[in-house]
Amino acid sequence: MKIRKTALCAAVALLILLCPVLHVRAEIDDSVARVQCNEKLVALTFDDGPHPRYTDRVLKVLADHGVKATFFMIGQNVKYYPEAAKHVAEAGHEIGNHTYSHPHLSRVGEGELAEQIRKCDGVIREVTGVTPVLFRPPEGKHGIRQCALVQECGYRQVLWNVDTLDWSGCGTDKIIDRVLRNVSGGDIVLFHDYVGKKYHSADALEVIIPALQKDGYRFVTVSELIAAGTPLPPTY
Ligand SMILES: [Zn+2]
Repeated sequence: MKIRKTALCAAVALLILLCPVLHVRAEIDDSVARVQCNEKLVALTFDDGPHPRYTDRVLKVLADHGVKATFFMIGQNVKYYPEAAKHVAEAGHEIGNHTYSHPHLSRVGEGELAEQIRKCDGVIREVTGVTPVLFRPPEGKHGIRQCALVQECGYRQVLWNVDTLDWSGCGTDKIIDRVLRNVSGGDIVLFHDYVGKKYHSADALEVIIPALQKDGYRFVTVSELIAAGTPLPPTY
């Protein structure tokens, strides 16, 4: 009888211990791909940096037009190019976590993903003094389980709804066209500030930013955009 009681107590204790975990796991996907809002707000985002050449070029264009944006950094690149990461922080842009080494998430288990997020978080804090709160998964791969894990790591997952495809090496005009044709208030636009091919995004931004400002748009960070309306999950 005593053994049965002890076993019951152990089972209840285990359930109580697991409850917070089960609760978090049951949460819905709160990934953000765009925000429903009444204002003409747009969040420009830059993935895969920092890089001393590309990031600084983007920073110059943003500064020239008084625009704040969000940079989802790879931890390894922050370690390689700490000055470029510091320039982003000093200019007042938002910094997000884009994993430590940008692995294919389909080949990464939950434990490794948590470690990737933790390591990237550590190096961003150490180099820039910033505590990031937004996470963007490599290649936009996401799911409910992953979203819960990201939440457990203290982050909110952010995707996008306008893709410039600037990583593909496409020309300046195509990037400009993709953004100006598709953008509307509450959108999150995906750029990169580190690509292996010819880099056209900074030149495209020289056209995109003034064109949208002329049309009444205002550029904000992703956190500011989320605070300004109702965040919506991806539909793709
Ligand atoms: Zn990436």
